[in-house]
Amino acid sequence: MENFQENPILAPILQEVEHIIGKDAYELWFKTAQLSYEQPFLTITIPNAVWGKTIQERYQSVIKDTFLKHTGTEIQIIYQIIQTENPVVMDARQVVPSVAAPTVTVNPFAARLNSEYTFENFIESPSNRFAYKSAQTVAQKLGVKGYNPLVIYSAPGLGKTHLLHAIGNQVLKENPSAKVLYMTGEEFVSDYIESLQTKSTNIFRQKYYSLDYLLVDDIQFVVGKSASEQEFFYIFNKLFGNQKQIVLSSDRTPQQLEIDERLSSRLLSGVPVEIKRPNLETRIAILRQKRDLMNFTIGDDVLVFIAEGIQSSVRELEGSLNQIRAYCKTNNVVPTIPIAKELLADRLVNEEDIIINVNNIKKIVGKHFAVKMEDFNSKKKNQSIAWPRQIAMFLTTEMTDLSLPEIGREFNRDHSTVVHARDLVRDKINTDPFFAAEINRMILDIKAVDK
Ligand code: ADP
Ligand code: MG
Repeated sequence: MENFQENPILAPILQEVEHIIGKDAYELWFKTAQLSYEQPFLTITIPNAVWGKTIQERYQSVIKDTFLKHTGTEIQIIYQIIQTENPVVMDARQVVPSVAAPTVTVNPFAARLNSEYTFENFIESPSNRFAYKSAQTVAQKLGVKGYNPLVIYSAPGLGKTHLLHAIGNQVLKENPSAKVLYMTGEEFVSDYIESLQTKSTNIFRQKYYSLDYLLVDDIQFVVGKSASEQEFFYIFNKLFGNQKQIVLSSDRTPQQLEIDERLSSRLLSGVPVEIKRPNLETRIAILRQKRDLMNFTIGDDVLVFIAEGIQSSVRELEGSLNQIRAYCKTNNVVPTIPIAKELLADRLVNEEDIIINVNNIKKIVGKHFAVKMEDFNSKKKNQSIAWPRQIAMFLTTEMTDLSLPEIGREFNRDHSTVVHARDLVRDKINTDPFFAAEINRMILDIKAVDK
């Protein structure tokens, strides 16, 4: 195979990739890989699947962006595992010491962390605040009582992996020699299976027993693989007993993980924290941050448009922004709402698809004015209840497809009362900008209520 490090197209690109991801990570993951490029395909040949997965998860976007920057083309990456008659059995554990040995200062565990996933880069919002604060707490002090283990769970793309890396990065920043290991549940399972095959379970265990922090991402992959689960339980107990910190992430609640009872009671002894979907304001803040990080000139109006249409996850938001950037760069155009609309057509939530239900409206308005749910339908006529009720009726006319008599029924009133309420609130919106802002706030909150 040609020496790709000297290839005139690849060399400058790889140099930049190395610069971005850091020398240690580059040497570890790319020196042993082979790369060849034939537009638009970049083939990366690696020793094993875990290797490829690591490059894919951590560095693929950097590689793609750098290619785009240098060549103006969007590349596609193909991963290929080395095929030899005597397959070289290589994995991270065997390579780490030989790379790390000459420079004693390199912490072999550090290379597994993505240095871009930090607490500073994570936008805190009501939907992730508890998870964020808990992650900071465990990063500050080892084995804080009540926070061990910390289990972070959420739907995909909401920041679990980011927070796990942030913990690792923060701990190493304070104490560069701390033993922090980040790995995915899948990697744990394959690491364990390999130790069985090579009859090296003792070495395997020693590695884990010596840790200060064990961060296992997507623990659901360990569940149900009974031998691995059992092994994880031993490691867990050992670390827990030594007051070392364990942090896990999962795509479901600890109760929903179908694990061995002993382990599940352990998992529940710490704090399980959920990350919820971000509300509109957070989505806008995240897009702004990503825009600044990627140095992309895109107006707030377009960002708001994206934030309104992409509601499922932060990963989707990022992906949308990347997609628009790539398109605008290649075609040398300025991003606008129509461009975003066209590019994101498949991903955008259709306004009509959002089913706003009257209960959510009552809930948010009730919260705003401290009115109980049942009071919306009661006969009470005092102003402190009548006015919020009229606002809720107005919002129901604006935000749902219900007819006036249907809305009347939802509030235990007739349709003329709804018309009166609607007109009253509308008048006030037109004459009082502060009130209009208050109403907008409630509309945003209603749209952001758990979908
Ligand atoms: P998960 O592990 O829950 O599937 P990730 O941690 O991989 O999600 O997050 C997906 C992407 O979104 C990552 O690039 C991450 O940096 C980004 N992200 C998620 N939440 C936030 C946040 N609150 N602030 C900034 N970036 C975020
Ligand atoms: Mg993840």
